Amino acid sequence: MCCVFDRYDIWETPVFDAGTMKKVLEINPDARFAPVGSGYVINAGEIADGELFRCPALTDSGCALGDEKPFDCRIWPFRIMEHEGERVIAVSSLCEEVHGRDFRELKSFLEKGLAETIFRYADENPQIVKPFYGNYTVVLAEHR
Ligand code: SF4
Repeated sequence: MCCVFDRYDIWETPVFDAGTMKKVLEINPDARFAPVGSGYVINAGEIADGELFRCPALTDSGCALGDEKPFDCRIWPFRIMEHEGERVIAVSSLCEEVHGRDFRELKSFLEKGLAETIFRYADENPQIVKPFYGNYTVVLAEHR
């Protein structure tokens, strides 16, 4: 679910660094990328209504990148977003397992170190910060 996209959630494709992009191209030479900041996003072209686009790193046995998958993928269903002028960490409603948990539990989990890791990574890679989108719920704001 988190590796297949339609025309409405294609913005969710991860940001690859040069190394992981090269690996994806070795696996799937037809993959196309576009630069964004210091990284690269998949150029999926036009996607028709009802059509699905598979991430070019996705194989029948899962992600071909294994532990080297992009940061976005490693932290999903969390995502760092810009919300009302502030960076926040939000959780996707598409992941029922995590989204259905008590939000205080999720916030406490993030505060044990993952939130700091995400904000620090975003300082160096601001292209991973996405505009806030309605099917996410804010769990933690950077300064609150
Ligand atoms: S890089 Fe791997 S984990 Fe990330 S969307 Fe593609 S297949 Fe899924």
